[in-house]
Amino acid sequence: MGLETELVEESLIKKLMASVKCGACGRCYEVDNIGILGHEGDLWFLRVFCPACQAQYLMAAVIREDRVSGVITDLTGAELDKFRNAGVLAADEILDMHNFLKDFDGDFSQLFSQN
Ligand SMILES: [Zn+2]
Repeated sequence: MGLETELVEESLIKKLMASVKCGACGRCYEVDNIGILGHEGDLWFLRVFCPACQAQYLMAAVIREDRVSGVITDLTGAELDKFRNAGVLAADEILDMHNFLKDFDGDFSQLFSQN
């Protein structure tokens, strides 16, 4: 039961993330190009690959009530500004997640083995 719920949730997350546009070329990602690394409550960690421009990003998204309320990637500051100007992100969400990712050493297995 728990595993089933998780699978349903993952396909939903991928579907939601497919509406997110590539930070490099603006094309929407495709479900097949989105990999879920794990999640910590509402905060989901994903690896995305853009079929149009071949860009790969590590991405963190806040997903609540079946919608993506915030997305952050390992993009540069200028690219993040583009997202912010597009109204995709709230400034405080960017700051929170940016600080989180800055302190985060990239070892997801370590993060998710914590209680
Ligand atoms: Zn792209």
